[in-house]
Amino acid sequence: MEATREREISGLTIRIDRDLCIGSGNCVNLAPEIFEIDEENLVDFLGDTPDIDQDRLVEACMLCPVDALIVENADGDQVVP
Ligand code: SF4
Repeated sequence: MEATREREISGLTIRIDRDLCIGSGNCVNLAPEIFEIDEENLVDFLGDTPDIDQDRLVEACMLCPVDALIVENADGDQVVP
């Protein structure tokens, strides 16, 4: 299975590097509409991901202790980590 997942949410590009994820669940706690922990104990996007408050989405990604969540803004600039 691909180690990297990418999705456009709330005008941002969110990338998950599952090779880095340690399943801490920080991102899930802050953005439960977006992320879930799967059967491999790694984070993945939920099937349907609504646009949520952009600040909360960015903060959820910033809380990752291993920088497994990468965020790019609409200009293509990396804002997390
Ligand atoms: S916060 Fe980081 S390490 Fe924790 S589940 Fe989310 S992506 Fe994985």
